[in-house]
Amino acid sequence: MADSGVKDSDGTRLNDLKVFKSAGRGFWSDVSDADWNDWRWQLKHRITTPEQLGRLMPTLTPEEIAGAKLANHKLALAITPYFFNLINPSDENCPIRLQVIPRVQETHTAPWEMTDPCGEDSHSPVPGLVHRYPDRVLFLVTDRCAAYCRYCTRSRLVSNATGYDFHPEFDKQIAYIAAHPEIRDVLLSGGDPLLFSDDKLEHLLSRLRAIPHVEFVRIGTRIPIFLPQRITPELCAMLKKYHPLFMSVHSNHPRELTTEVREAVGRLAYAGIPLGNQSVLLRHVNDDPVIAKAHVQKLLMCRVRPYYLYQCDLIAGSAHLRASVRRGLEIMERLRGHTTGYAVPTYVIDAPGGGGKVPVAPEYVLSRNHDRVLIRNYEGKLFEYPEAKDGTPLCDAPRSIEEPALA
Ligand code: SF4
Repeated sequence: MADSGVKDSDGTRLNDLKVFKSAGRGFWSDVSDADWNDWRWQLKHRITTPEQLGRLMPTLTPEEIAGAKLANHKLALAITPYFFNLINPSDENCPIRLQVIPRVQETHTAPWEMTDPCGEDSHSPVPGLVHRYPDRVLFLVTDRCAAYCRYCTRSRLVSNATGYDFHPEFDKQIAYIAAHPEIRDVLLSGGDPLLFSDDKLEHLLSRLRAIPHVEFVRIGTRIPIFLPQRITPELCAMLKKYHPLFMSVHSNHPRELTTEVREAVGRLAYAGIPLGNQSVLLRHVNDDPVIAKAHVQKLLMCRVRPYYLYQCDLIAGSAHLRASVRRGLEIMERLRGHTTGYAVPTYVIDAPGGGGKVPVAPEYVLSRNHDRVLIRNYEGKLFEYPEAKDGTPLCDAPRSIEEPALA
């Protein structure tokens, strides 16, 4: 679709969505600044019970009331006061609300849904370590998060609501990495590694850094979005000692990118940590090309590079949140060429059962044979590119030229 198809109202919406706002204090206006900005205070005051939720949000729907009551048998309910303030209580389909307030639909499992859709448990040589790709591992450090996303791929283990009893054994995980010289990249995830104290996280990072073949460490976290107060100057000063260290944050909607988040990720960027964002394509949250575009552009304004857009995994109880692949492709079509290349993530489907990430993209190569490639651009215009036989130049250019001819 060409830009000419974009309506003026889309442009106004886009700009409105890109405005940075503070989450504000909401119900917590009498709390001191020191407490509000203290990440431990935020964690201690999370909304975790249906009663608390009902008191703060009298507009809960019957589906949400039932979902909140059942949550602790599937994936716990937890929302930080900061993130709760982003919810619009008068909008049943508020994109923030959909992500963190349980609905009774979560208890329905479609036939194709799974508890471990990425097949992590079957690629786990020691508890808490997933070795699926040749040169890298996923190192799960905890089953706790600051808040719980209702579509979480690891809901079988995070929050321990299903009794998975996740007990990572760091010694065994680190010994496995040390014994496998092919592992050059370690991704710390969970649960959320940034829930650890600075000291505990540093202990882990320093042990990984002591392994000579570990070239590169990554942290996957949603803390900068759920709990930006955690990104303290002290944390950043500690992290910067362990470069090259990359961080993948997880934001799904432009409204999550508040002034607090912009400052938090700014501190990480100033510590030299390259930042990428992983979004999950979710129905009524971000399956709209204007919202998706505002989101990726706003991420760049926060110094965060959109990295992956995930098709929602086939996690049990997520059918009500899953958007179609058709919609995902439409979004990619509306991004590529229509905005900065840096803003365009790679859209992937994690192949069900453990096949790894498979990129999916609109078709730009329309046909290809031994002497030409037919391509189309973002405006739908067609172009031919002459193909060369491998290793053979397209035509014989002269290798030298006489001096007089040059003149
Ligand atoms: S923060 Fe990540 S691990 Fe935690 S619930 Fe959300 S998606 Fe799952």
